[in-house]
Amino acid sequence: MFELLKQACESASREGCQFADARYLDIRKQRVISRDHALAGCNDSEDCGFGVRVLYKGAWGFASSPDFNAAEVAKVVALAIRIARASANALRDGGVQWAAEPPLKLDYQSDCARDPFSVSLEEKAELLVSANEIMLKNEAIKRAQGYLLFKRIQRWYVNSEGSELHSDVTSSESVIWAIAVGNDDFQERNWQAPSSSRGFDAYDKTEFMLQAERVASQAQEKLSAKLAPEGEFDIVTDSENLSLTIHESVGHATELDRVMGYEVSMAGASFVDRDKKGKFQYGSDQVTLMADNTLQHGLATQGFDDDGVPGQRWEIVKGGIFQTYSTGREFAHYIDEERSRGCCRADHWSSIPIVRIPNLFLMPGKESLSPDDLIADIKHGLYFEGMDSFSIDQWRLNFQFGGNAVWEIKNGRKVGMLKAALYQSRTPTFWNACDATCDESHWQAHGVMNCGKGDPMQIAQMTHGAAPTRFRNISICRGRDS
Ligand SMILES: [Zn+2]
Repeated sequence: MFELLKQACESASREGCQFADARYLDIRKQRVISRDHALAGCNDSEDCGFGVRVLYKGAWGFASSPDFNAAEVAKVVALAIRIARASANALRDGGVQWAAEPPLKLDYQSDCARDPFSVSLEEKAELLVSANEIMLKNEAIKRAQGYLLFKRIQRWYVNSEGSELHSDVTSSESVIWAIAVGNDDFQERNWQAPSSSRGFDAYDKTEFMLQAERVASQAQEKLSAKLAPEGEFDIVTDSENLSLTIHESVGHATELDRVMGYEVSMAGASFVDRDKKGKFQYGSDQVTLMADNTLQHGLATQGFDDDGVPGQRWEIVKGGIFQTYSTGREFAHYIDEERSRGCCRADHWSSIPIVRIPNLFLMPGKESLSPDDLIADIKHGLYFEGMDSFSIDQWRLNFQFGGNAVWEIKNGRKVGMLKAALYQSRTPTFWNACDATCDESHWQAHGVMNCGKGDPMQIAQMTHGAAPTRFRNISICRGRDS
């Protein structure tokens, strides 16, 4: 596999390219879907091909093909060089400034005790349909659904600097959900098994059955939930709910390519301009947000990125102060950093690598605190669990997030479910309102398997995480009431 990729880089170098890399990807995906008492579908695909990226006089050229043979590789390299030469002629500034990186040789394999692609469809169907049966035992539940999603991506990467890298990463995700009908209303409650780069061994049938019973009963309870109050309240978010808020208000906001205007047309820019590096008060002193592409079972952990840079761990926010961005080799110089943070990833052999959010999580608190301790110190507030609708503006600044289940807190206790609750804030206001986060024993990871970015859009995956966390005086408004 490496031989043809090496030839691609060597011929690009002979043609005067300052840098070239080539990657071959074998992408296997399977999604198994259940509805009520039966399987509703199964999509299974395998997709292989290679891409060549060249840097010529500061300009990129990229081309790709599903046919991996010597003649096709030569054709694809020639096309990538033609594109780069044409782009170089149009450059008005000096073009790409490429951060140095020593050559790397690495073979990375994710932990996968049980290969999901060798588990029978019968066993997968049984897991999902049994969970549906449990949910449907509850009379209020009129529909029960679920899916299992598995991905295995094998990547061979070579560059003109002598790097030779291989990774083999299996990841999985599962969601089950119940829809309750009654009381002139319908309500949905779901459980997302934490996505991770693990195999079928990540799933435990007993856990699925327990969660199925819980989500069915909570979907039923949502039917008689009160409408959320409006105004300013203290809130507590669970790990899953806060994971999405971390993703949108910190992860995307601190991608350096977005800050530099490379993503504006697709999904907006960022308020975190370069003047804020090292000094901006992003959050309170309780807030340390760690990026870690070496995290065990992390969805963005793949040994190295598509610039040939190994996975790293660094603080994006430390004790409330913004430290630095997620970068690739093309962007490090904009913030006077000599080395990339290794965040450049391509989602497909036909995609050019772009800066992606790393695994990114809120560090747990040092003080021994449980969710009940956080709630005990609230007179009137809300507890948010799971993800629901959200929106964030083009500067990653003004946002609102809902929860899949929300409880009212009165005099230090959860007293009943609420519906239509949304918390609304500005990124720094929200993170500065954080006054406590639970300790390590309550910390959980949650994955994002469908992060969209780029134009044409690429889909990436990464892990977030947090322990339940409290925020003071947050504005609560109502969204739709069902
Ligand atoms: Zn995203």
